[in-house]
Amino acid sequence: MILNELVMLSNVYGSNEELVLAGGGNTSAKDGDVMYIKGSGTQLATITAEGFVKMNRAALADIFTKEYPTDDEAREAQALADLDAAKMPGEEAKRPSVETLLHSLFPHTYVLHVHPALVNGLTCSVNGKSAAEELFGNGFIWIDSCKPGYTLSKICYDKMTEYKAQNGKDADMLLLQNHGIFLAADTVDAIGDKLADVMSKLTGALVREPDFDSGDYDGEKAQKCFDVIYELYGDDAVITYEPSVEALRFAESPETASAVMKPFTPDHIVYCKAEPVYGFCQACIRGAVNEYLDKNGYMPKIIVISGCGFFAVDLTPKGSETAAMLFNDALKVATYAESFGGALHMTDELSDFITNWEVESYRQKQNV
Ligand SMILES: [Zn+2]
Repeated sequence: MILNELVMLSNVYGSNEELVLAGGGNTSAKDGDVMYIKGSGTQLATITAEGFVKMNRAALADIFTKEYPTDDEAREAQALADLDAAKMPGEEAKRPSVETLLHSLFPHTYVLHVHPALVNGLTCSVNGKSAAEELFGNGFIWIDSCKPGYTLSKICYDKMTEYKAQNGKDADMLLLQNHGIFLAADTVDAIGDKLADVMSKLTGALVREPDFDSGDYDGEKAQKCFDVIYELYGDDAVITYEPSVEALRFAESPETASAVMKPFTPDHIVYCKAEPVYGFCQACIRGAVNEYLDKNGYMPKIIVISGCGFFAVDLTPKGSETAAMLFNDALKVATYAESFGGALHMTDELSDFITNWEVESYRQKQNV
C-alpha cells in the first residue's frame, strides 16, 4: 500500500516539469523497519515499484554514529559502502539514490526531494536565507551550500537534531542552498499541500517571470554560428538552438551573461558542464571553444552568443536536448533570483568537487 502510494506520488510530481527535470529529484517512504528509496538511474516520472530500493532503517541510522575519514575520497567511498550494506536482502543489484541518507533523517512516512527552478531562484540567491525566513517563518531549516554525499547528510542530521530540541517538533522542510528542497509528511496529500504552499508563496514574491517566447534574434549570425559549431564539433554534432527572449536578454553582453556563466546546482554541472562559453560572434566562438578545450580537456556543451541566444551541443539528440533544458532551467533560476537579491552561484571549489565526483559522473552516464 505505502509503496503503491509512493509510486503514484513519484509519477505525479516527476511528470511536472516545473518540479523535476531529467533524472533529478527523488522520493522515499517508510514502512516499519524499512525505507523505500528511488534507485539511482531511474526517473520519477516513469518509476515503478521495482525502481525503488528497500533499505534497512536501523542500518541507515547507524551510519550517523560512525566516524569517517576527513579525506573526501576515502570518506565518500566508506559512506557509500555502508549505504550499500544497508540494503535489504534481495536488493543487491540495485543502487540507492545518493541522497538516501537525507531521506532517512525524517521520521515522516513520505519524503519528496526536488530541485524546482522556482525554489532554486531562492536557494541560489544572495538574500535566499533571509527571504525564506520572511516567507516561511521558522517552518524550515536552511542548509548552507556544502559538499554533497555524507558531508551534506551529516550537516542536516546535526541541524535537524538542533531544530527538534528548539522547536519540540521534527523539521519537515529543508531548503538546501544551491540545490533544492526536501519536504516530509505522513500522507501523500499533506506533501501536496505543503508543496503548493511553498510554490504559491514563492510566486507571490517574484518581481519578474522569465519569458521563453521566441525573441528577435540575428538569423544570419545564428546560421554562421551553426556552421562554425559543426566545424568544431564534427558533422555528427546535435545542436539545440534557443533564441528565446530570455536567452537573448542574458546573451546581450558579458555583464548580463555573468548571471549564468557559472553553475547554480549539481544538475547544471551534470547536464551542461560547469561552465558555458560566451562570444559576440562566430569568429570569437572558435577561439573561445578551443581555449575552453585546452583548459578543461572537454568541449563545452553550452555556447552563449550575443544577439543569438544559446546553442546546446552534444553528440546525441537526448544529450543536446537535456543540456538545453537544464540551461533554460539556469536562465529561470537566474531570473527568479533577481527577486531575492540576485544570483548566487556554487563556489568554484564545490563545482570542481561535483565535476570530479564519481556519483555524479554515474548519473551523467545514465543520462536520465
Ligand atoms: Zn538533490
